[in-house]
Amino acid sequence: MSDQQFDVIVIGAGPAGYVAAIRAAQLGLKTACVDDFTGKDGKQALGGTCLNVGCIPSKALLDSSRQFWNISHNFPVHGISVEGAKVDLGTFIGRKDKIVKQFTGGIGQLFKANKVTAFYGKGKLLGSKTGGSNQVEVTGKDGSKQTLSATNVILASGSVPIELPFAKFDGKAIVDNAGALDFTEVPKRLGVIGAGVIGLELGSVWKRMGAEVTVLEALPDFLGAADADVAKIALKEFTKQGLQIKLGAKVSKAEVKKDGVHLTYSDKDGEQQLVVDKLLVAVGRRAYTDGLLANDTGVKLDERGRIVVDEHNHTGVDGVWAIGDAVRGPMLAHKGSEEGVAVAEWIAGKAGHINLDTVPWVIYTEPEIAWAGKTEKQLKDEGVPYKVGTFPFAAIGRAVAMNEAIGQVKMLAHAETDRILGVHMVGPGVSELIAECVVAMEFKGSSEDLARIVHAHPTLSEAVHEAALSVDKRAIHKGN
Ligand code: FAD
Ligand code: AMP
Repeated sequence: MSDQQFDVIVIGAGPAGYVAAIRAAQLGLKTACVDDFTGKDGKQALGGTCLNVGCIPSKALLDSSRQFWNISHNFPVHGISVEGAKVDLGTFIGRKDKIVKQFTGGIGQLFKANKVTAFYGKGKLLGSKTGGSNQVEVTGKDGSKQTLSATNVILASGSVPIELPFAKFDGKAIVDNAGALDFTEVPKRLGVIGAGVIGLELGSVWKRMGAEVTVLEALPDFLGAADADVAKIALKEFTKQGLQIKLGAKVSKAEVKKDGVHLTYSDKDGEQQLVVDKLLVAVGRRAYTDGLLANDTGVKLDERGRIVVDEHNHTGVDGVWAIGDAVRGPMLAHKGSEEGVAVAEWIAGKAGHINLDTVPWVIYTEPEIAWAGKTEKQLKDEGVPYKVGTFPFAAIGRAVAMNEAIGQVKMLAHAETDRILGVHMVGPGVSELIAECVVAMEFKGSSEDLARIVHAHPTLSEAVHEAALSVDKRAIHKGN
C-alpha cells in the first residue's frame, strides 16, 4: 500500500473522529486522520471543538471559578474566612490553556502509538473513485494539495456556533464560546443570548468571577429538553446565585457602541433595552460541512444541514460513513466517540453497538444537572404508563456534610414492568451519579434492581438508591 493509500481515512479529529481513528487502527486497519484545527500556538491541535474550545476548557474554567466563588459563598459556612481574595486572570486562563495543550498533545501521542497518520489540512471527499477506493483531497495550510485514497471514509467534521445575522461575532464585544473562554478581563456586564448548556455554563463561569450576567432566552420555558422538575429547581438555584435569566425574551438587535453592546429584545411587556460590555451568543450549533463534499459524492444533507446516515451511521454511499455533531442525535462528545468506535468496528466486520436512547446529558453548572432517557412529559405525551420515585439531597448525609444539599434524583419506571425509563437529577455530583443509571438502563434494569443493590454510606449515590426505593413508595429516609 502506498503512503497515500489507507483502509480508513477519518476527516475531523474531534472526539468522534480521533476515537474512530484510534479504534480503526487498533483493529489493524491502516488509518489516516485529517484535521485543520489550529491551536493558540499556531500549530495543528487535534481534539476538535471538545478539547480546544468546548468540553475541556469550559470545565477547567468552571472548576477555577468555583474555587473562587467558594471562598466568599461556602467557606464562611465552614468557619473559614479569607480576606481580600483575588484572581489573577492570566493564571486563570493560562491554567486552562495548559490543560488544553496537554490533552490535544496527548491525541498526537495516541496517534503515534497506534500508528494513525495525521494530516494537517482541509479534507474534501471527492465524487470520483479509483479502483473502487474513495478519494479525499487534502489542502494544506500553505495551499498545497494531495489526494489520499481509502476503502472507507468517516466524515467527522463536527459543528460550529450558529451566528445571529444581527449579532455577528467580532471576537471582541460579540463572542462565541471560544471568545468567552478567553476574556482578558472580567466583563462588568455580560449578556448571554440563549439559556442552553453553553450559555448557562459560561454564564456561570463569569458570574462567579464577578460579572453581572443577564441571560436572554426566547423560549418561555427554561431548559425545555430537561425534565420540568429539574428545570424548575435549577432555575431557582441559578437565580439565587444572581444569574438574571429572562425567559420569553427574544433578542432582535445588537449594536456595538462606545459604551457597550446595546441589545433590543421583546418580552411579554413589549420592547426592552439592555446594555452590556460583552455579549456571548450561545444560540446553538450547526453541523459543519462547508467544503467537505465535492458536488458529485452522493452524500446527502438534511434540512438542518446534517449529513444523512442510517442507524449504522452509513451515508448510503459505498464506504462512506458519518459520525458526531455532523449527524443527527445529541451534540455531545461521548455520543460522537461511541459512534466512532461502532463505525470502526462495523468497518472491521465486527458487531459495533450504539444506543442513542441511553446517551447521558450533563450540564456542569452549580448544582449540576444530569439525565438519561425519557422525561415525564415525553412519557405522558407517548401515553406510556409510569411510576415516579424522587429523593432530595437535603436528606442525604454526605450532601449535608458537604453543604451542598440541593436538588433531587427523580426516577421514572414503567408502571407494569418497572423497567427504568428515565432518570433526572439536579444536585451535587450528579454528573457522576448518572453513570449508574445509564448502566441499569442499558441492561434493561428495573427500579427494583437498583433498590436491591447495596450503596455505600454516606455517599451521594444513596440518593439514586432512595429514589429507586421511592418508585415503590418504600424510601427509608423520607415520607412516601
Ligand atoms: P468537533 O469536536 O467539532 O470536531 C470536528 C473537527 O473536524 C474540528 O477539529 C474541525 O476543525 C475539523 N474539521 C471540520 N471539517 C474539516 C475538514 N473538511 N477537513 C479537516 N478537518 C475538518 N459535549 C459534551 O459531551 N460534554 C461537555 O461538557 C461539552 N461541553 C461543551 C462546551 C462548549 C463551550 C462547547 C462549544 C461544546 C461542548 N460540548 C460538550 C459539545 C462537544 O464539544 C461536541 O459535541 C463535540 O466536540 C463533537 O465532536 P465531533 O468530533 O463531532 O466534532
Ligand atoms: P442550545 O441549542 O441548547 O445551545 O440553546 C440555544 C438557545 O438559544 C435555545 O434555547 C434558543 O431558544 C435560544 N435562542 C435562539 N435565538 C434566540 C434569540 N434571538 N433570542 C433569545 N434566545 C434565542
